[in-house]
Amino acid sequence: MAIRVVRSVAELRGWQAQHAGRELALVPTMGFLHEGHLELMRAGRTHVPRERGELALSIFVNPAQFNDQADLDSYPRDEAGDLVKAESAGVDVAFVPEVDELYPPNASTYVEVGGLDQHLCGATRPGHFRGVCTVVSKLWQLFSPTVGLFGQKDFQQLAIIRRMHRDLFWPGQVIGVPTMREPDGLALSSRNARLTRPGRAAALAIPRFLQLVNQRYAAGTRNASLLIEGAEQALSPGRIHYVSVVDADQLQPVEQADTPTLVALAVFFDDVRLIDNTLLGGPP
Ligand code: AMP
Repeated sequence: MAIRVVRSVAELRGWQAQHAGRELALVPTMGFLHEGHLELMRAGRTHVPRERGELALSIFVNPAQFNDQADLDSYPRDEAGDLVKAESAGVDVAFVPEVDELYPPNASTYVEVGGLDQHLCGATRPGHFRGVCTVVSKLWQLFSPTVGLFGQKDFQQLAIIRRMHRDLFWPGQVIGVPTMREPDGLALSSRNARLTRPGRAAALAIPRFLQLVNQRYAAGTRNASLLIEGAEQALSPGRIHYVSVVDADQLQPVEQADTPTLVALAVFFDDVRLIDNTLLGGPP
C-alpha cells in the first residue's frame, strides 16, 4: 500500500475516521531517517501487525525543544528521502505538519515533567524536555496510539515520556527500543550526517569509552568516579558537555553503581552534539 502523507490535523482526523476501531503504532521522529528510526518502525509493526492496525510515523523538527537557534537551523532535513524509506518500511501514514499546525497562533500550553529532567540533557539544554513533552503530548492526543515507540539512545527522554504517560493516565503503551549502532559502534543519529570525515572517526571515542565503562563494571568496579575515570582524555578531541553516572530509575547522580545505573554522555565533535549511554546492571 502506498504511504499516505498528511500535513494537517483536519486531514489526519479524516484518515483516522477511515481506520476507526483499528490499533495504531506511532513512531515520532524529527526526520532524516536512519536505521535506528527504521528499527522503531519494525518494532511498531511487531506490536501492531498489519491485520490489526496501522503504522504511523510523524516527522516534525520541533522548534520548542531546541534551545539553540543555530542547532535548529542546521538540523538535517530530507522529507522526500524520508518518505521513500518510510514507505518501504511499511508505514501507512506519515504526519508531516508545519510548525503552525502543531503550534497555532497563541498556543500557550506546555507540558513539564519534574525531577527526571534535573541532570544530563535536562541540565545542559534548558527547556529541551519541556519542548519534547509538549510535542509528544500533542502527538499522543492526536493519534491516541495503541503503542508509541521511542529509542533508548535518548534514555532520559524515554524515562520522561514513560513518567508523563503514567502520570497523565494516557491510553496505550510506551515502548523502548534498544539503540541501533553502525558496525563500528557509533550510535546512529541524524546528526552524524553533519560530521566531517575526521570528526566521524574521532567520534568513535564515544562507543570505545562506553565499552571501557562496561569492562570496568564487569570487572567489579562500582565507584562512579572510577567507572568514568579518564573520560577527558578518552573522549579527546571531543568537547564534553557532560559525562554522568546516575541511577537508571530517577536519573539522579550516584557515587556507587549498586542498583541499575546509567552512564550517559553528551560530547561535541565538529560542533555536532552527540549523545550516547550504557545501562549497567540491567533495566531499572
Ligand atoms: P529523533 O528523530 O532524533 O528525534 O529520533 C526519533 C526517535 O528515534 C527517538 O525515539 C529516538 O530515541 C529514536 N532513535 C534515534 N536514534 C536511534 C538509534 N540509534 N537507535 C534507536 N532509536 C533511535
